[in-house]
Amino acid sequence: MGEKIAIYPGSFDPLTNGHLDILNRASNIFDRIIIAVAQVDSKKSLFSLEERLALLSESTRKLKKVSAESFNGLLVDYAARKKAIALIRGLRAVSDFEYEFQMALMNRKLSRERRGAHAVETVYLMPDEKYTYLSSTLVKEVYRLGGDVKSFVPKPVLTALKTKFKHRSAQI
Ligand code: ADP
Repeated sequence: MGEKIAIYPGSFDPLTNGHLDILNRASNIFDRIIIAVAQVDSKKSLFSLEERLALLSESTRKLKKVSAESFNGLLVDYAARKKAIALIRGLRAVSDFEYEFQMALMNRKLSRERRGAHAVETVYLMPDEKYTYLSSTLVKEVYRLGGDVKSFVPKPVLTALKTKFKHRSAQI
């Protein structure tokens, strides 16, 4: 068996320290991790796809096994093209479980139809307790309301948030 490649899919709008925690853990298991940013619903996102990818590259520069790209279409097809053996997801609390469970079983089914015994597996990793309440949505909300998010996001994301909200308030 060659390189063990995993895909870490998500919106990453924006990347948080919780995502980085998962990436660090995954680096101990896999040879290569590709962060896959879904191209869907970018209208609703705060950061454009290009901005999210740039922030991901900049913030994961020290993680040698990690790279970031975007993908279209079915995740399992993308994973097959990349020869990935696993999908990585983070599990924060019981509230994540039901949706994640459904998605993992659906992806397994779709993947099995295409790849048979080599169907992709979903691997769940639990972040450090201090990140269990952290989400991209909360970071945006707290920042928008004037809260301090320094300890929740990497530096490039903090800088990007400042710029983004400065422009936004200038528009109003
Ligand atoms: P999605 O919209 O697909 O949930 P996200 O960017 O919000 O995309 O999250 C991507 C993955 O990272 C998901 O598996 C999510 O559970 C996980 N994740 C998000 N925040 C955290 C966190 N604070 N700790 C651990 N995992 C997280």
